[in-house]
Amino acid sequence: MAGRILIADPLATNRIVLKVNLTAARYQTVLAASGHEAVQRAQSDRPDLVILDAHLPGGGAQVCARLKANPTTRAIPVLVIDGVPSRTARLEALRAGADDYLAKPLNEAGLLAIVRNLMRTRATIDELARRQGTEQALGFAESRGSFSRPARVAILAPKPETGLAWQRELGRAMAARITTVSRASALDAMGPREAPDAFVIAADLSAFGDGLGLVSELRSRSATRHAVIVIVDEANDPGRVPMALDTGANTVVAGRFDPEEIAIRLKALLARKLESDALRESFDHRLSLAMLDPLTGLFNRRYAETYLTRVAAESARTGQPFALMLLDLDRFKRVNDTHGHRVGDEVLVEIARRLRANVREIDLLARYGGEEFVIAMPETDLKAASTAAERLRRVIGDTPVRSPSRGQDVAVTVSIGVVLCAGDAAAVPGTSGLIEKADAALYASKTDGRNLVTFADGFAA
Ligand code: GH3
Ligand code: MG
Ligand code: MG
Repeated sequence: MAGRILIADPLATNRIVLKVNLTAARYQTVLAASGHEAVQRAQSDRPDLVILDAHLPGGGAQVCARLKANPTTRAIPVLVIDGVPSRTARLEALRAGADDYLAKPLNEAGLLAIVRNLMRTRATIDELARRQGTEQALGFAESRGSFSRPARVAILAPKPETGLAWQRELGRAMAARITTVSRASALDAMGPREAPDAFVIAADLSAFGDGLGLVSELRSRSATRHAVIVIVDEANDPGRVPMALDTGANTVVAGRFDPEEIAIRLKALLARKLESDALRESFDHRLSLAMLDPLTGLFNRRYAETYLTRVAAESARTGQPFALMLLDLDRFKRVNDTHGHRVGDEVLVEIARRLRANVREIDLLARYGGEEFVIAMPETDLKAASTAAERLRRVIGDTPVRSPSRGQDVAVTVSIGVVLCAGDAAAVPGTSGLIEKADAALYASKTDGRNLVTFADGFAA
């Protein structure tokens, strides 16, 4: 089932017509005949979308406002349908929080496109919130980003003078940094920091429908992937609504440019974008916390083990050999005992930096435990592994670490255990088997006197 839709209309025939259309499109429907009933059903049935007739007893806009004021129904998108449409009624519905407004007679394809669009928006926010919930269950702290600057809105109009007029009119209706841009500059490579938060685009720029074509272009670029996109269709052609919405526009405003309506819609869409951006950012942030070691910024053990499984599988598939190294700082407890834990931490940070500077981009370097590091080196044979391990040993042992807080030099050395996998599927042990072998080689380096490299399985460095 594609989703559940609540239809609230005082006339039974209207409810049936909508129900038939939506059922044919595989939606499940719930019906209500009054505003009161609509609010109750919205709470009890938790629909994915509410379609309200503007002339419901109790008033379509008022019912919409009640749904948006109630925390349990606030997130459900609302579409208002009006048999006696007017600009006043449209603005009233949008001000009450309606996500879209549609005049009758209904264009069936347009209606279904709007329904799909509102459902998609809802599903995206749900998905982001769900991720959030999962991460929260792992016990990470909440951190929400926020917009502390005015929103950036870019206008694309058929002619420069039209663009400037729209810019001026919209500027009177809302507080934002509004600019008029060309098609080419809208598509130019932009960093996410400079990219507009919203685009207001005429459906027809220099050719019929070329503004609509811009939508998928903007959606395919990372800087504008999540921007708000409002299409202004001055030709008022309902047949173009499905294309605009299905390629990623957030809404289509039909008829002549109405700054007041566009301002109301932009404000609502920007507020929602802010919310989903914050969810997305905090998810990315927490994901990195889950993978990275906070002291050194290297990958952590959990990530390393997952990655190592992939390297081993890849090597078994391609037959390319790879090396796995475990590195453990020698007598590190003594560093802490002599210089204090803080200096110990500084040494770990500097060692991580040296290691990072001396491995290749494709090598995985992770902090495996307290003063232990692991390095997976794909496409590495015995000779290359031996050279790399020796270089890493020396890059640590040859130059003492200068403590930034104490200005003191601290000499540290490292013991290394290396296991080499020939890339023969049968010969590659499981991840834990590989680590065990590297660990045994590392132990041999320790017992043989430390500051040494030892290869597993009798390979001599
Ligand atoms: P060995 O040569 O046998 O490896 O001796 P070791 O002292 O390095 O080995 P041991 O495993 O006994 O001690 C490791 C020490 O590393 C214990 C702890 O004080 C220190 N250590 C582990 N994690 C950290 C850390 O995050 N910061 C600091 N400052 N020290 C740490
Ligand atoms: Mg250790
Ligand atoms: Mg140690």
